[in-house]
Amino acid sequence: MTRPVHSDSSSMLTSPDESPYFGDEKWWVENYDFILLSGYQLRPRYNSKWVPSWTIQRNDKQEYEDGIASYISTPALDAIRLNDGAKVVLKRMPTEGQELKIALLLSSPGLRSDPRNRTIPITEVIPVVGSSWTLLVMPYCRRFDDPPFHCRAEFIEAMQQYLEGLQFMHDHNISHFDIACQNLMMDETRVVPAGSHFVRPRTHSGFLRFFRWKNRCAVGPIDHYYIDFGLSMHFPGGQDTASTVGTLRTFPTIPELSQTTPYNPFKVDIYQLGLVMQRIIESYPALQDFRQVAATMMHQDPCNRPVPAASLAQLNNIAAQMSPRILKSAMRKKNGLVDCLTRSLFGGYFPSTPFTV
Ligand SMILES: [Zn+2]
Repeated sequence: MTRPVHSDSSSMLTSPDESPYFGDEKWWVENYDFILLSGYQLRPRYNSKWVPSWTIQRNDKQEYEDGIASYISTPALDAIRLNDGAKVVLKRMPTEGQELKIALLLSSPGLRSDPRNRTIPITEVIPVVGSSWTLLVMPYCRRFDDPPFHCRAEFIEAMQQYLEGLQFMHDHNISHFDIACQNLMMDETRVVPAGSHFVRPRTHSGFLRFFRWKNRCAVGPIDHYYIDFGLSMHFPGGQDTASTVGTLRTFPTIPELSQTTPYNPFKVDIYQLGLVMQRIIESYPALQDFRQVAATMMHQDPCNRPVPAASLAQLNNIAAQMSPRILKSAMRKKNGLVDCLTRSLFGGYFPSTPFTV
């Protein structure tokens, strides 16, 4: 079995001239009124009565927010909650699927009350009337690794939460199975006070303007979350007997993945989080002291990968040997000199890759 990956763009229209919408965007348009009646307003582009701004004023489409399309498959979209104006994300999933079951289990009151639960909170569940879909409502978040980390303390805080959160999921016999930067989020409320655009998160409102943010360490603690349980598995019988088969296109280096030989998905989770950690460490020369934590999590023999709580202890031990001054001193991303200078001079940057992180 080859498992699906989430960034599949196969549903893109080949020619944007055929329709103003790409891929799944049309589904959101068709359900705009229902979603509005449910208390959430999508961006104007998805209003069923939408008239593109550039066709009224005859200016360049690039000058209007409603010209910003979601070019890839869009199971999730941002919206405004009408009763309080909060920005949220709606995620569409099959009502009968495993993803919904696991998301609801993780957000059940008993599991939610555990502070180690670092999965995204579900604030409302909306069955889409007359369809086989359900919408989950969750807080608006951004990828945890952008904007760049200011100091070691910020990296440590994020990894502590993700390791703790992974141990929590494993304690409840849930394997996430798709741990990657795009599925690791942080609350941006205090880090990016002006907010960000869902499709172009390196902009405040979708346009190429100066982007400002605050250091996480100056406004923290910051909540970090796991999202996307589309590949997740629950093994009520426990981890020891858990096994699955299948490859993951986006994780070619995980040694045990196989179409035919069963393997333990919990050990895959540990490798995946280790890989995330390793990639960040490679981007910041100041983080080299943590290299061993990631390397241990990515051991070629799954049996030799420590449980997340053990990696957390290893991370904390290394951090404990660093002085407060070292922990909070500025570090620079590799090849990030220009961004770093612009940030220190002007408080932000003109994004070099504006549209996606
Ligand atoms: Zn800092």
